This record gives sequence, structure tokens and C-alpha cells, in this order.
Amino acid sequence: MNLRASQFKANARIAAQDTGLRSKVKKATGTALTKRKQTVDELPEWESLRQQGHDIRKEVVDNIDRYLRSFTDAARLNGAIVHHANEHNDATKIIYDIIRRVSANSVVKSKSMITEELHLNRMLEENGIRVIETDLGEYIIQLAGETPSHITAPALHKSKEDIARLFQEKLNISYTDDPAVLTAVVRKRLRDEFLNTRVGISGVNFACADTGTITIIENEANARLCTVLPEVHIAVMSIEKIIPSFDDLSLFLKLLSCSASGQRMTSYVSMINGPRSSHNPDGPRQLHVVILDGGRRQLAKHPAWKEALYCIRCGACLNVCPVYQSVGGHVYGSVYPGPIGSVLTPTLFDMKEAQDLPFASSLCGACTDICPVKIDLHHHLLWERREVVDRGYKSFTEKIAMAVWRWMMLSAGRVEFAGRLGWLIQKVFGKNIPAPGWTPRRRFPALARRSFRSIMKREKNNDG
Ligand code: SF4
Repeated sequence: MNLRASQFKANARIAAQDTGLRSKVKKATGTALTKRKQTVDELPEWESLRQQGHDIRKEVVDNIDRYLRSFTDAARLNGAIVHHANEHNDATKIIYDIIRRVSANSVVKSKSMITEELHLNRMLEENGIRVIETDLGEYIIQLAGETPSHITAPALHKSKEDIARLFQEKLNISYTDDPAVLTAVVRKRLRDEFLNTRVGISGVNFACADTGTITIIENEANARLCTVLPEVHIAVMSIEKIIPSFDDLSLFLKLLSCSASGQRMTSYVSMINGPRSSHNPDGPRQLHVVILDGGRRQLAKHPAWKEALYCIRCGACLNVCPVYQSVGGHVYGSVYPGPIGSVLTPTLFDMKEAQDLPFASSLCGACTDICPVKIDLHHHLLWERREVVDRGYKSFTEKIAMAVWRWMMLSAGRVEFAGRLGWLIQKVFGKNIPAPGWTPRRRFPALARRSFRSIMKREKNNDG
């Protein structure tokens, strides 16, 4: 599979025939949806929480520079070293330089989508720095040489039997598909890495503009170990991770935990206010916060598309999407798969390259209904489809076909005529007339000799 957004159609064609993949993805997303529903059903105020979340995310994105300044000042006051990176390359260079300055040749890392977006592991490894992923899902993916297929569950496309075979082959252990044993194997191997590695890299779930606090949520405690044990902690975030105030944190922790893992609160919530100090002897000697723009400021200026920046990366829209459930995440060829990926990838990265992604949706609206910050995802997909057409990215044949379709649909007489013509063609040549892009996977519907409209007209005349 070629993991580029431009290959979406070709990838989806292959994945749609992979029944094993489909059942693994459906099982995992189904479990996530059930757990989420149970938790959300216990919260009668859920709709009001969603609206509050939406309003606060809008406030931040509309005033991103002010909140960024406020967060930077507060974090520096706490003793953090804050770096701003306009481009992806700037961010990776900053991170690489920090690692080199402390003469480290390996890093422990917790799960972070922004470092996936930076392709940080590849860059560090090309420059001789060993990267040890410590989240269990990311560890599995790294071992398999793959990329995550889900925002919160990177190895969602793998069954426990797949993981057992992978561990047997790569870690040279006896085959076992007992999750507890497999987890214990990883825990034992990672323990030494945590204790002996001098740099830890993490993402950031939320950054409070008023206190400079960065917050990381998780269930495995690996992120806490990454941020506390090494001498240097590098926290990487994009600009929209900011929330206005520490008081807003409880709302977003609830929205994210419920939507991502069906928990009222994840097992671990780390709130980091700076490096170790005389008052606080725990933690790293240095705390660096690397903040990436990566085209987001520009996106924040767009009256409609800015909404994509409200996302808190819960992954619920992926779980509920019938397209994602059928083909998994790799086919999107983007760091961000599913509905939010189909919205974000064309607008943030490259509309031409990702022109097929807005069409990867049935427009059923389930993604919009489930989003904890009320992003109008399916309408965004529709607007982006229009943009793709307006920019002239569609093929000449499709343009002609749609122009003819439009011309026909604007007149009842022409629709009537087309129906009769179609019926006649099917009568002469048979029903299985090939139509590229349509009939390879579906049968052409049988056309009626007379339209409903003409039958009704005749009935009325007979009654009269
Ligand atoms: S768009 Fe909404 S549902 Fe999808 S990942 Fe982001 S916050 Fe979650």
C-alpha cells in the first residue's frame, strides 16, 4: 500500500476486500463506541458540555496569538524553555539540537500525533538517535515498522494474535496471545530504557494560557515516566492545543476522556508546571516546550475551515465513521485518518494531493453528532468537495458527466427523456452495461419503462 493521500482510492479498493482487517477495525471501534455511550449516558449535561467546549475552542482559535503569548510568558515564568517553530523542519531541528546539546543518543517517547506529523522518529533515526516508543500501541507499531492507523489507538488494526506473532518474531519470545503476558514483556523491556535514557519526548493534550501548565492524559503511565525520569523533557505541541485557563481543564479532560476511551477520567493525568526546582525536587532538569504553527495560523484565519482546529484528537469521529470502519486508517495516507483527517489534511497540508479525502464519507453526519467540541464535520467535507471542484482538480470526463447531469436535472422533460432512453438502451444491450467507476463493484439499476411522474399524470387524466 502506498501511504500517500493521493493514493486513497487505490488503497481503499484493496482494503475494502480485506475482510480480516474490516472485522478487526469493526470490533475495536464497536467496543470504543459502546464504552463511550455508557459513560456519556451517565452525564445528562453532556450536550451543554459539548457546547461549552465548542465555544472555548472557538475563542482560542479566534485569538490564537494572544493566547500563545500568554502561555509562553507563563510557561517561561515557570522555568520552561519555550521554542516557537513556524515550519515542520524548524520544529524537528529544534528538537534534534536539544538532544545533541545533552549528548544523548537515544530518547524515550510517549504517544503524540504532532510528532507523527513531524515524522520525528524517521528524522532522529536518520541522524543516529534511537527512538524508543513507550506507549504499548506505538511500541507495537514501531516493532512492525508501520504507522498508526488511529489517533488514539495506533495498533487498532491488529488482533492479539497478530501481536503475538510479531512479538515472537521480533522479540524472540515463545508464542502467546495472552495480553497480560505480552504487556509484561514490554513493561520489563521498557523499564531499563526509562531509567537509562536522558531525554524524554511527549505530546501535550492541553496547555493552559494563564498558568503555563501542560497536561498529558493516558492510561499506561508511560508518559509520566517519559516526562519525569529523564534529565530533559521535550514537550511538543501545535499552537491550537492551548486552552484559556486552568479552570477550563476539567471540562476538556471530561470531554476527551469520555470520547476517546469511554472513561470519566483516564488513569493518569499529568499536569506539568516546569522543571525540577528547589521547591519541587521531582522531574527533569530541563523542560522544553516546542510549539509548532505548521500552517495553523493561516488556517485559523479562514472563516469556515478554522473549525478543524477546534479538534481535541479524541478519535470518536473515526470510530463512528462507516468508511473508517470498513477500510481502517492507513488508506487515508495521512497522519490524521477518518473524518477529521479528511477535513484537516486537504486544508492544512495539500488540497491537490488530498483531493479524494473529502469524498471519503457517506455524509451521514454521525461524525458531527459524536464530536465532543461540535465540529460540523460532514458539512466541512461537503464544502471541501466544492473547493476541490472549484480548483479544477476533477477529471475532464467527470466534469463533462456532471455538466450533462446538471443540464438534464434542470428540466423534468429531459429527466423523462433520459429515463426512456436508458430503458431502451438496457432493453437492446442488456442490464449490465459497463459504466467506469460505477459498475465494477455494483450492478446498474434496472430502469423503468415509464417514470412515476408520467404514470401519475396518466392516472389523473383517466380519473378526470
Ligand atoms: S473532530 Fe471531534 S470527534 Fe473527531 S477527533 Fe476531533 S474532537 Fe474528536
